[in-house]
Amino acid sequence: MVPPTAPGIHLENLTKTFRAGRREVRALDGVRIHSREGEFVSLLGPSGCGKSTVLRILAGLESQSSGEALVHGETPAEMRKHHHLGIAFQDSALLPWRSVRSNIRLPLEIARRREDDSLIQGLVDLVGLTGFEDARPGQLSGGMRQRVAIARALVVKPRILLLDEPFGALDDMTRQNLNHELLRIWTERPATTLMVTHGIAEAVFLSDTVAVMSARPGRVQEVVRIGLPRPRTAELTRTPEFHGYVDRLSALLFQDWGDAARAVAGAGGPR
Ligand code: ADP
Ligand code: MG
Repeated sequence: MVPPTAPGIHLENLTKTFRAGRREVRALDGVRIHSREGEFVSLLGPSGCGKSTVLRILAGLESQSSGEALVHGETPAEMRKHHHLGIAFQDSALLPWRSVRSNIRLPLEIARRREDDSLIQGLVDLVGLTGFEDARPGQLSGGMRQRVAIARALVVKPRILLLDEPFGALDDMTRQNLNHELLRIWTERPATTLMVTHGIAEAVFLSDTVAVMSARPGRVQEVVRIGLPRPRTAELTRTPEFHGYVDRLSALLFQDWGDAARAVAGAGGPR
């Protein structure tokens, strides 16, 4: 018998309108995403389509205008209260005066939790920074700083991981390398995950499901289930199946951009 799976992410009819003076920006217009506990979901879409807004709502940093946002049946406020959330953004936002070790420990201090030093060392090792425990962020490369940010996100042993283009500011090689690392880390410490990215291959490589958002209004245009086996390996990225998914997602994204370009051309064209 197949065991019943618990709900993971539950976004139902999520809308968000920002007000800037008298102007209104409708950032999200009925976003739906549903996953199961422990699944890795990526959110893919053109810049400005509302990806970060979705994540910020789940992180409790922003509130929705309407609709439901739950993970494991908990509201963002409850997730925060119970310290179930691990968050890492593109800009690692480490405290420059603190060491690697002490940056990773920060969420524990905020949660007033005492943990053994071995937990921190375990995370340093897990993200491949052994030997850099006492370094300051200014002494690290961009890739290393993002590793610290991932370790810091994991220190509360989160059941939910929210990642907003965690490797977006890095060069391609470092990024690929860190994607493999992230996959290894996530396999060792499974969590219900939502990752925002504009990397198509990265989304296919990591995810169980990819939700493709359309430019405007911010909506989920299509949800693609990635039926590739795990563990995912470098060899897998060279298979026709892998490229099939990449092509399909590219077509969805470019179709959207094509529609937008035609709309602009139409509006400015001869009548
Ligand atoms: P993405 O992460 O997909 O690039 P965002 O979620 O950051 O997109 O933004 C979606 C839209 O909402 C954009 O048009 C952006 O300008 C607008 N927006 C985001 N945050 C705010 C804010 N705090 N105030 C006003 N507008 C905002
Ligand atoms: Mg963003």
